[in-house]
Amino acid sequence: MSEAATASNDRRDVAACQSCGACCVYSETWPRFTMESDAEIARIPPELLAPRETGMRCVSDRCAALAGEVGKSVTCSVYAVRPIVCRDCLPGDDACEMARAKAGMGRWGPVGAG
Ligand code: SF4
Ligand code: SF4
Repeated sequence: MSEAATASNDRRDVAACQSCGACCVYSETWPRFTMESDAEIARIPPELLAPRETGMRCVSDRCAALAGEVGKSVTCSVYAVRPIVCRDCLPGDDACEMARAKAGMGRWGPVGAG
């Protein structure tokens, strides 16, 4: 895939996620740290970390870093330093579809498609 196509897909994915947020309210056990270094975790505001810094703090199943209204307009307040699990969840993959189903949303479809 060309760099231009990749950049285009990245923009498409960000746009899709900005009107969703389902994976950010999926489960309090979801935004957990895996291979993050201490330095990476230190870049996240401490008030957004779970006890013992095992992952992101959640209120019920909603990640404390999520701003906005799920299914309409959301942003991740720690986007640049978000956990690996968040980076790995991509629009249309299995985890994405599972989260969207739990949130009562339809299956993901590319922005602008059909
Ligand atoms: S559930 Fe899918 S479309 Fe929604 S924010 Fe997560 S990765 Fe993006
Ligand atoms: S850190 Fe950001 S991307 Fe990850 S669950 Fe929380 S709000 Fe969503």
